[in-house]
Formats: sequence, structure tokens, C-alpha cells
Amino acid sequence: MEKFFLFNTLSRSKEEFKALKPPQVRLYTCGPTVYHYAHIGNLRTFLFEDLLVRSLHLAGYEVFHVMNITDVGHLVSDADEGEDKMEKGAAREGKSAREIANYYTQSFLDDFQKLGCRMPDRLPKATDHIQEMIELIQSLEKRGFVYRTTDGLYFDTQKFPRYADFARLDVENLEAGMRVGMGEKRAVTDFALWKFSPPKKKRQMEWESPWGKGFPGWHIECSAMAIKYLGESFDIHCGGKDHIPVHHTNEIAQSECATEKIFARYWLHAEFLTESSGKMSKSKEDFLRLKLLEDKGYRPRAFRFLCLQAHYRTELHFDWTSLDAAEAGYTGLLNRLRDWTRSVGQAGSRQGGLGSSEFVTQNQERMKQALFDDLNSPRALGLLFEALKDPQASVEEKTSLLLWSDDFFALGLQEVLSQESSETLGDEVQKLVQEREKARAEKRWADSDRIRAELLKMGYRVEDTPQGSQVLKVS
Ligand code: AMP
Ligand code: ZN
Repeated sequence: MEKFFLFNTLSRSKEEFKALKPPQVRLYTCGPTVYHYAHIGNLRTFLFEDLLVRSLHLAGYEVFHVMNITDVGHLVSDADEGEDKMEKGAAREGKSAREIANYYTQSFLDDFQKLGCRMPDRLPKATDHIQEMIELIQSLEKRGFVYRTTDGLYFDTQKFPRYADFARLDVENLEAGMRVGMGEKRAVTDFALWKFSPPKKKRQMEWESPWGKGFPGWHIECSAMAIKYLGESFDIHCGGKDHIPVHHTNEIAQSECATEKIFARYWLHAEFLTESSGKMSKSKEDFLRLKLLEDKGYRPRAFRFLCLQAHYRTELHFDWTSLDAAEAGYTGLLNRLRDWTRSVGQAGSRQGGLGSSEFVTQNQERMKQALFDDLNSPRALGLLFEALKDPQASVEEKTSLLLWSDDFFALGLQEVLSQESSETLGDEVQKLVQEREKARAEKRWADSDRIRAELLKMGYRVEDTPQGSQVLKVS
């Protein structure tokens, strides 16, 4: 594994990353609340997390990634009041909360895939883990961290002296500003672990528990699912920066009090994507979501390209002009690659294909150093563009570097080209390519070489890339 540095919110400094059990990295990322479509701000955070996964792979780690789906318990107010977002979504659309959850989970996963994000290894839903949450609350109760009010069970933050440390909270000031509206809570920072169903209202999502019918608090969901799939202590936990003062602070408090272990060792937070009105919101009819961008003719990967141009810890302001520029830059990159692969096809058929060279390895090394330095994607992209302009380098070298970068920038360059080339291939050529892939899968190397030679005679060169075979027309 190569050296990797990450900015840890715990220490507010860049630290060398040390995995608990290298080469494995156990990672938890807070997933979407599926009461509505994701806005492109949410997507920026998921893109940063995908870059993290891909960069860790590049450094030689094996990442085990868990991302939850919040389909109950996330209330509209962080102060444990107001409606459950899922029930609110159900009322908005005249559907059941489960229908809403299923529909928006699928829509989120579609966006996630269009952006080229790798599917997590586990994608647990909160509603499938109520029992684990109840057990975690019971263990907190046994240790004396829980008290009961008329509307639920609360975590007593005064019993956890480190409570304010993670977010550097000024609890006295919070108390002074929030005395009104605290209800029966003992301290303004106390938070719900379990909420009782309201006495005169039938909730759509509610469960029996040792304390009465109700539903879990949002924070306990993530603790229970992270512990179940990653263990009591794991490597990295991520989310957007809004999670620092409440959600992640509360996850740390309840997990560490229940297990007496350090919960996550590195905490990473993405800065916000903002729009001209300030905070990104889902309240407008036509809010900024991926489908709106697509309807206006932008490609999802162009949005990815835009996000890569800013470091994840700097605020990124969204406007259409910068998306236009990203779309143009992305198209330019595809055009260059298309031209190059054509001429590489011709040259490659004479010289024996794309290879490595000092130019390629040196630039790979530089780009890796940028990524391993707290995911400095704007720098890595800058280095790539500089290298692609280098007049000393050959087209083969540039193509090789660009295709290599697709593993972590995930701009889908390979996919677009393979799609285009298969669209223009005749039936006979396609059949031979498939036969060759079958031969390769069955390790019949002589057959595979014979078909490759046959294809070359017909004017098609086959390149084997980590993503599969790519066919280039050479004459
Ligand atoms: P949610 O679906 O509201 O639970 O949020 C999903 C993720 O998006 C969380 O990690 C949030 O912290 C993050 N997030 C929310 N708003 C923004 C924004 N404007 N820019 C970047 N990330 C955001
Ligand atoms: Zn969470």
C-alpha cells in the first residue's frame, strides 16, 4: 500500500492514513434519505466518497464499503421535532411511505450509476434493522445513558464528557439560545433514540419495542448498521459537512458509550455545493437534480467532471456557465481520445499496442501523489491536462495515461468509446469479438490469438483493457 493522507475532522488536520487491518479498509458513508429525489448537492458528496473508494484502491487497499438507506426516522428538524421526512413525502404524493422509499431509492441508485459511482458492498435499509437499533438502545440503557420523556427515549449527553469535542460545540451558547422549545429534554444537546408513535395519530411506519410502539431516531440507525456490518471500530466514516455538529456528533456519543471503543478512526466531510439562492433545496418544483441537468442536454459525467475540478473540502458554487464549461471540457477530452485511439489503432497494429513508458509512469506517479494527498482531484486533473499537452509525448503514451485515469476519475471514457465502436462494428466482427472473449474467459489462448489475427486481417485491432476488450478500426 502506498502512503495516503486524509484530513481527519477528529483532529482538524491532515494525517497519514493507517488502516486497522491493512490491506482492508472498512468504510461507512451516510446514505440518502429517500423521501425525495437527491439534489446535485447530495450527489457531490456521493461523488467525493466514490473518489475516496477509487483512490484507496489505486493505493493498493481493498475497500469494504457500507452505505445505508435512511427510510425512516429522519425528522424535518434536527431538534427531534416535526414530521418524519418519509411520512411527509407520502402525504405530498398521496402514496404510502414504503412506496415513496422504494421509488426514491431506485431513483437515487439510477443517479448513482449514471455518475459512474461504484456500488457499495452493502446497502442496508434502516427499516430492515430495527431489532439491531433496539439492542443498541438497550445496551445504552443498561449503562445509564438513557432517560424517558413522554414522547420517547433520549440520550443523556451530559453523561458523555467528550460530547462537544468532535464538533467543537459551544454548549453554553447553544443552551442560552435554545431554552425555549426543549420540551422535557434535560439538555439542549440530548437527542432521541426512540420516539413513541403520537397517541392520536396512526403512523405508517412503527414498530413494537420494549418501551412502547414507535420508531427509531435517525442517528441510532447509522450506529447500528455501521456496527453490524463493520464492527465496533472501523476505519473511515464520511458525510457532508452538515453532519458534523448533530448527526455524527450523536453517532459518536451513542456508539462509543455503548461499546466503550473508538467508533470510526477517520472522519471525512465534504463541503457544500451551493446555488445562487444559497443553500440547495428540494422545495422548489424544478429543483437542481440530475434529471434536470440531463433534460437540459448535460451529461451526468460532465457534472462529475465539474465536481472533480474542485477539492472536496472547498465550497463549490453551482451555475450553468461552469457546467457549460465542464460539458465542453468533457466533450473535448472524448474527442481527443477518439482521434488518438484511431491513430493508435493504426500505429499500434504496427508497433504492438499501448505500453508503458517513462512519460506514462512519471505522470501516473505525480497524479497518484496528488490523489493520495487528501484527494486533491483538481491537482491530479491539472497534471493530466498538462501531460496531454506535452509535445514530446506520443499519442500512444497520452492515450495510455488518459485511459488509466478513468479508473479513478471515472469519466466513462472507455464506456463511451466501446459503445461507439460496437455501434459501428458489423455483425460478423461483433460475433468474432464475442467468440474471442469467450475463448479468453475459458483460457483457450491459442483460439483467442487466432481470432485476434483474423480480426486484424479484417482491419480491426483488439485492445484488452481492465474494463474488457476494446475494438479499434485500423484501416
Ligand atoms: P440526505 O439525503 O439529506 O440524508 O443527504 C445525503 C448527503 O448529502 C449527506 O451526506 C449530506 O451531508 C449531503 N448534503 C446535503 N446537502 C448538501 C449540499 N448542498 N452539498 C453537498 N452535500 C450535501
Ligand atoms: Zn448517518
